[in-house]
Amino acid sequence: MKGVSLAQRGGRPVWLMAFLAALLAGGVWSKPPVMVKQIRLWSGSVEAQLFIDLSTAARWKVFSLVEPHRVVIDIDQGQLETSLPTPTEGGWLRGMRSGHPTPGVLRLVVDLDRKAQIDPVLLPPVGGHGYRLLIALRTKAARLSTPKIPSSRDYLVVIDPGHGGDDPGAIGAQGTQEKWVALKIARRLFRMVNSEPGMRALLTRSRDHYISLRARRSIASEKDAMVFVSIHADAFDRASASGTSVYALSRRGATSALAARLAKAENAADLAGGVSIKDRSPDVAEAMLDMSLDRQIEQSRQLGAAVLAMLARVGKRHSVRVEQASFAVLKAPQVPSVLVESGYITNLEEESKLRSVLYREQIAGAILGGIKHYCWDQPECPLPPERKVHVVQAGESLSLIGARYSIGVNQLKGKNGLTSDLIRVGQRLRLP
Ligand SMILES: [Zn+2]
Repeated sequence: MKGVSLAQRGGRPVWLMAFLAALLAGGVWSKPPVMVKQIRLWSGSVEAQLFIDLSTAARWKVFSLVEPHRVVIDIDQGQLETSLPTPTEGGWLRGMRSGHPTPGVLRLVVDLDRKAQIDPVLLPPVGGHGYRLLIALRTKAARLSTPKIPSSRDYLVVIDPGHGGDDPGAIGAQGTQEKWVALKIARRLFRMVNSEPGMRALLTRSRDHYISLRARRSIASEKDAMVFVSIHADAFDRASASGTSVYALSRRGATSALAARLAKAENAADLAGGVSIKDRSPDVAEAMLDMSLDRQIEQSRQLGAAVLAMLARVGKRHSVRVEQASFAVLKAPQVPSVLVESGYITNLEEESKLRSVLYREQIAGAILGGIKHYCWDQPECPLPPERKVHVVQAGESLSLIGARYSIGVNQLKGKNGLTSDLIRVGQRLRLP
């Protein structure tokens, strides 16, 4: 597919000559136009992604120009059927405009305030999407330094909300998208971890955009995470299937047919999310790392078992053991990594539960409890020992705290001699 981007080979608009030749041959008039159906733009501090949804495969070229810095996208036979997105204010993307440099060519221009590397690719139809032209932009961080780490001795938990952006993940009968559920649970867990003494959390994504599986696990490796947890709520072809489950990596085949199939589906997420083939191919370093994963897998199984034990208090578990398969996202060397299925979004009852704040609080609380118990089982766990006390945080209610620890509100009130539901921030509640 990338071969059609002729401009990248020498900068000469070869296709234009082909176009003229076709014009002479009279063939061009029968060629249907390429409808540009939607343009979506996501931009972060150093990266941006521009998705252009096309009605059909197209001849295209993408190049950058300077003074001022801009990226030019030419689509042969392109017809704009949508409005142009406006970049977020204050970012390094200035704006977007369109024009026709020559008849029959649609030109889109993205104005930038600095130089950027471009990586364009035409993605084939996948997961409900038609042809998409993805242009990934990357610039150097300007003056921005990475946020200061509070304490390097903190127990770092990297939380990965599955899917995102163009990849919605599984979708329930009520229209609930897995990417949304995963982000909601992850954000809740993020706040919980950060309020724990000696612990710190990092999210692989905090908004609705896609990042590659490799980038997700790289965050865990590069930041020296103590544990990595990927959060999902996948589909099952039997609507009656229900319950939570936990997965770890396997280097020698899957422990069940379901685990194998799930890993295959998850590993395909990159394509729906818009990661180019170049970024998905394994490299030499990765093959080397594969050899050193045995210890990581053993630790991951222990972490998974601790999380599963806590999930048992939330409700039904789909499997009572940690299942294993070759999940690409779990391959961070030396970082114990698990994938938590918070329930099947294809089960009507569980879809409703996943939409409820209290259930998501229960799942997040169980994951946190599992991580802490896993740590306490290690000889050098830096976390303070378990205290059967909860310090009330802003925005918390008795029912939310009850959900977090999977205990009843009445039990909580009884243990603390409370006669009403009123609690105040900073209050210390004893836990049964
Ligand atoms: Zn998933």
